[in-house]
Amino acid sequence: MGTEMLKFVELEQKHPEKRAPALRRRDWGEVYDDFRPEAAADQAARCSQCGVPFCQIHCPVSNNIPDWLMLTAEGRLEEAYEISSATNNMPEICGRICPQDRLCEGNCVIEKGFESVTIGAVERYITDTAFRNGWVKPPEPRAERPQSVGIIGAGPGGMTAAEELRRLGYQVHIYDRYDRVGGLLIYGIPNFKLEKSIVRRRADLLIEGGVQMHLNVEVGRDCSLAELRARHDALVVATGAYKARDMSVPGIGLGNIFQAMDYLTASNRKGLGDDVPTFDDGTLDAHGRDVVVVGGGDTAMDCVRTAVRQGARSVRCLYRRDRANMPGSMQEVTHAEEEGVEFVWLSSPEAVLGDTLVEGVRAVRIHLGVADASGRQTPQPIPGSSYSVDADLLIKALGFDPEDLPALFDEPALETTRWGTLLIDWRTMMTSLDGVFAIGDIVRGASLVVWAIKDGRDAASAIHRYIQAKADEGAAVSRAAA
Ligand code: FAD
Ligand code: SF4
Ligand code: SF4
Repeated sequence: MGTEMLKFVELEQKHPEKRAPALRRRDWGEVYDDFRPEAAADQAARCSQCGVPFCQIHCPVSNNIPDWLMLTAEGRLEEAYEISSATNNMPEICGRICPQDRLCEGNCVIEKGFESVTIGAVERYITDTAFRNGWVKPPEPRAERPQSVGIIGAGPGGMTAAEELRRLGYQVHIYDRYDRVGGLLIYGIPNFKLEKSIVRRRADLLIEGGVQMHLNVEVGRDCSLAELRARHDALVVATGAYKARDMSVPGIGLGNIFQAMDYLTASNRKGLGDDVPTFDDGTLDAHGRDVVVVGGGDTAMDCVRTAVRQGARSVRCLYRRDRANMPGSMQEVTHAEEEGVEFVWLSSPEAVLGDTLVEGVRAVRIHLGVADASGRQTPQPIPGSSYSVDADLLIKALGFDPEDLPALFDEPALETTRWGTLLIDWRTMMTSLDGVFAIGDIVRGASLVVWAIKDGRDAASAIHRYIQAKADEGAAVSRAAA
């Protein structure tokens, strides 16, 4: 080992410079600045090069973390990039938005008492450096293959499958109902977590590499699944999970109550310079309003932090469990608190107040009771504990379910699970329809970008095997007939 590793003993964990909350509240820039090269090398050198790297085991794409940390510590960034990009199609995106506290960094086993290696920040630094130096290349195949694959959905799952299949030489066509490539990376996740230019440069690489984009095409409306099956040798369904869960409390039908995705999409579109439809008494914007967001996941965190940046008068997040039991990333809660969001834990809405437009929310305090079958404590309202908060904008961020694809695609033979996700054989990623594969949130339920990437990679390998097996079969039949 050329460079001295194990620097965790003398060097503290240090993330790249975090911008001050007062600055962050005023703009849409990312929270962290870039690592300086010496800082990245130092932080990478804190790794103790474990024989059994738990960080890697808990990374969904099995990133070879110790190797690229060592290469970064040695300043060999082009090699670090080669290794990092061999297992992950979007390392700079995962480095920014993976919940590292629950994945790689949360399982980093530097000795007790020392904080984990800043794996995500180094991963982001390696690939940002690679982009700056022109090391990131479009997926150009060594040889073209005649077969084509259609991918429905241009989110991270579909983009990954497209890159891998194109590299193998297939003719790849992506169909998406949106007007831009990126799925939730563009219209869900706000700029302060992931700047749009970072997603755009990935989309541009795919196009440069020959992936054909068919945007503003909704499968089930503009063309049918059957048509696409006839057009391509294999299909990938990567349509995500968009059916918003709702609340049923009195007053929920009042004006100025929105679903999180409508709110975030409007905000992201405004940032991209698009015209945004107007709602009730103005554009869908939190400026000057008392905002209440209901929910405790990543989506709720993105809503509260968006409202802060839009200049809301106050921003509250109501969640029925406590801080320790929320599904969102702890890091995001910390960012939100620093930016002035008030979290009201153990609270659940009972009614929405107002005449025509929302004026407030009546909520009840919650006690966490005994654990249910899933091991989570059941929230129980505390009688007589109701209280009200002002709200003239209410955002529901209660999670997402998959849409009813067999109905939307008019394909009753497309089997689903009892959660409505598409049923696949996990060894082949194939659905109940021959040659139709599925990946990402539509098979996992609302999940993470890194899992969609893993599925996209797995599906590309499975499709390659599937198409080659068909080609071999065809050749054998022709030989037999000759
Ligand atoms: P998507 O990204 O949803 O892409 C699906 C694509 O399919 C979309 O472009 C859609 O337009 C298209 N489509 C759907 N139906 C059709 C149709 N019928 N015809 C044509 N096209 C269609 N994950 C993280 O790891 N970290 C985070 O910080 C994080 N934050 C999040 C914040 C928010 C607000 C949300 C909603 C999610 C967040 N996630 C986060 C989850 C993550 O974005 C998803 O898990 C991931 O994007 C799933 O990828 P996908 O490719 O399966 O689907
Ligand atoms: Fe960690 Fe995500 Fe990167 Fe894996 S992909 S190393 S989990 S940040
Ligand atoms: Fe390095 Fe931590 Fe991974 Fe061990 S678990 S190899 S110390 S990053």
